[in-house]
Formats: sequence, structure tokens, C-alpha cells
Amino acid sequence: MTRRILIAGNWKMNLTLSASLELAEGLKQKAAGFPAVDIAVCPPSVYVQPVAAALQGSAIKVGAQNVYFEKNGAFTGEISAEMLTDIGATYVIVGHSERRNILGESSELVNVKTHAALSAGLIPIVCVGELLKEREAGTTEQVVRRQFDGSFSGVSAGDMKKCVIAYEPVWAIGTGKVASPEQAEEVHAAIRKMVEAKYGKDVAEAVRIQYGGSVNDKNAREILAKPNVDGALVGGASLKVDPFIGIINGAV
Ligand code: PEP
Repeated sequence: MTRRILIAGNWKMNLTLSASLELAEGLKQKAAGFPAVDIAVCPPSVYVQPVAAALQGSAIKVGAQNVYFEKNGAFTGEISAEMLTDIGATYVIVGHSERRNILGESSELVNVKTHAALSAGLIPIVCVGELLKEREAGTTEQVVRRQFDGSFSGVSAGDMKKCVIAYEPVWAIGTGKVASPEQAEEVHAAIRKMVEAKYGKDVAEAVRIQYGGSVNDKNAREILAKPNVDGALVGGASLKVDPFIGIINGAV
């Protein structure tokens, strides 16, 4: 089975409204040349709607960086999955390591957010990945398995097929220290086996597993060439048109 590559930019808490729109316009023009690649950008939530409007008529989809699991109510500061679909989001990043580690998000919380996203018709990009000390202790697969089991608990096979998993070794995020293509492939293959053990071969073959962690236009091609790497979740290099387009080009 052929999985479509997904290159998604995580803008994190960066850019102004005008800079976001400028970036979206620049990407819109250049991204038209890549019909075989799925492309998404995930701006800060306040810019999701204007960026989605700017990208209308292009193949670039918009995602959010977080979601709350309740539908509505007294949850000051939170945003529901329905609200995100309402303003044009297609994807939502769930369980990014910055949220797990800075804000203390557990896999249980990631799990209810994943369910909420799926119920609202959003595609969750669920992040997993080990800390440097966990890699050095040889526990990478154990850590990722625990995050995978917790984050996807109760997700049906039909829904699992729609999900995207982002393997993001925490030591590689924003550090310039990219995992080698072999290191990425090893963990991606292990994750696909986890999906297969729980959901069967058909689902495992359908699920897209992105790599994230210091991907740029120089290293993307080699990583994306690995058979179990189905795209990239890109932070820093997604904030400018040319490096991000260079990464997309590396997927072709
Ligand atoms: C990320 O934040 O998901 C990420 C991978 O960041 P960077 O590409 O900057 O390492």
C-alpha cells in the first residue's frame, strides 16, 4: 500500500498575523507543484482562521497545535475540536513533547484529546518520543510503546487509520541534532509493529508515521526515503517559505 507523504509545519508560538499571512501566501504559490504530497501548516490557534482563509483554493491544509477534549462549557482559555473544524482546521497536533514536558500533559489527557479530535472530524497528529536520558538508557521503544498505548486507548481500527503518529525524539527537537535516518527508521518500524499488534496489518499499513526533530531542507530527503517514514513534522524550518518548500521537495 502506498501512503501519501504528509509534511506539516508546526509554527509553535511564533509569527505575527501579518507574518503568518505572508508565509501562507508564499507557500500557496510554491506548494502547487507538489500534488503527490499532503501539506499542512499549524499556526497558533488565533491565526488558524485567517491562515485557512488565505490558503483557500490551495492544497495546503491548516492544523491547530492543541485542542481541549470537552465540547463546550466552563473551560476558560480552552478551545474545542468543533471550534477548530468550524474555523477551517483539518489537523490538530496532540501531545507534542513541549506540552507533555512543559505543561505536564499525560498520555491519558492526550488520549481524550485524540478521541475529541476524531469525533469532530479532525485528523490528530499524535506525538510520541523519548528524552535523551531515555534513549541513553536504552528504553526508547518502551517509552514510545507506553505513549502509544496510552494515547490510542479505545481508538477503533477505523479511526486509527485516519490518525497520524509523529515520532519526535525530544533530544532532536529544536536542537539541530537530527536523528539519523537509521535511528528514525528503527523506531518507525517498531511503531508500525505496535499498530499491527493492536489493529492488524491493514491498519498498520495505512497509518502514517511522521518524523520530527530538526528536519531541514538538507537532511529531509534521506530521512523521508526510509520505508516507514511517511512525512515530517517540522518546527523551525517551517517558518520560512524556501526551507519548508525544500523539505517538501525532498519528499518527491
Ligand atoms: C517540532 O516542534 O515538532 C519540531 C520537530 O521542531 P524542530 O523541527 O524545530 O526540531
